Amino acid sequence: MSQPFLDDWIARCCGLESVDPGAVLRYQTGKINALLRDVERHSLFYRKHLAEVFVRHGEAIRSGRWPVSREDIAALPFTAPGDIAENWKRFLCVPLDAVARMVTLSTSGTTGEPKRLAFSVADLERTLDFFAHGISVLVRPGDTVLVLLPGAERPDGVTDLLIQALPRIGARGVAGNPAAETAGFLAELERHRPDCLVAAPAQLRRLLEALPEPPKLRAVLSSAEPLPEALGAALARRWSCEVFDHYGLTETGYGGGVECRARNGYHLREADLFFEVVDPVSGSPVPDGTPGEVVFTTLTRRAMPLIRYRTGDVAAMLPGPCACGSPLRRLSRIAGRLRRTEAGVDVHTPCKGWAENRDG
Ligand SMILES: [Zn+2]
Repeated sequence: MSQPFLDDWIARCCGLESVDPGAVLRYQTGKINALLRDVERHSLFYRKHLAEVFVRHGEAIRSGRWPVSREDIAALPFTAPGDIAENWKRFLCVPLDAVARMVTLSTSGTTGEPKRLAFSVADLERTLDFFAHGISVLVRPGDTVLVLLPGAERPDGVTDLLIQALPRIGARGVAGNPAAETAGFLAELERHRPDCLVAAPAQLRRLLEALPEPPKLRAVLSSAEPLPEALGAALARRWSCEVFDHYGLTETGYGGGVECRARNGYHLREADLFFEVVDPVSGSPVPDGTPGEVVFTTLTRRAMPLIRYRTGDVAAMLPGPCACGSPLRRLSRIAGRLRRTEAGVDVHTPCKGWAENRDG
């Protein structure tokens, strides 16, 4: 069984000798306290959005005494994707010239306005640091990693950041052409002879069905969309490799959590993100093990922090410890996406639709 690969990183970032769930939570509430003081001073959106919180807890926030628990954090109002679409500039906590990278995402919301997310150099550095440690679950020093994710051409996009991060652990990343057909992919395999592959489930499915022979890969990291269980199992069996799934959104700064060999949920990026699972209708936190909507708060984001951001993803928090030895909680695989309509909320599961029986 693997070692808890992220815990040393989390402990270092949190200033702890070793990880312990209570100490990590104290670090997180302390970071959220600092975040509230920062947004009160610098973010036009949050100053207004949290006005009632500042009236009720302002003095305790300014003297570092609030929040101190998960219950306190649950008293903060949610941030919805639509808020960003309408107000992105008002979220900023830094001047526009301190923004190193802007990302525009289309939304399916009622306004149809695109969401814009801003990252500073320091924000991108946090992502690089997480990528280097998170991917060490599969990548070893000396490895070559072929990255097929979309957006390879964008500077500081997810592919570029991953390729920048890999030398930190003595590995090398190369960007493949995500649009390449089977012949193009085979040429890239021949050219780079990668040890590991990072790709989205749709690309992995296409390759699994199209490649005449299994590629010589030691490990695969699936990202961008939830990996259907059957597809992961078929890849592992037919390509004789290890398969890991990663969870993250552009809003989380790309990285969010990654599976260990126990494959019992995503080990979370606890040093940079505070995750909660809430009832999608009432908004109340649900007990561990109960599925609900994944919500996160950024702990270290400088340019455009997000407080209790509703992801629309459905999963459950799994209480620790993991079979790998980590005492920290994990997030279960994503079970689907919430669809909010005038009639209410339902769960849409786009990640079904690939069945093991297609494996011939
Ligand atoms: Zn584990």
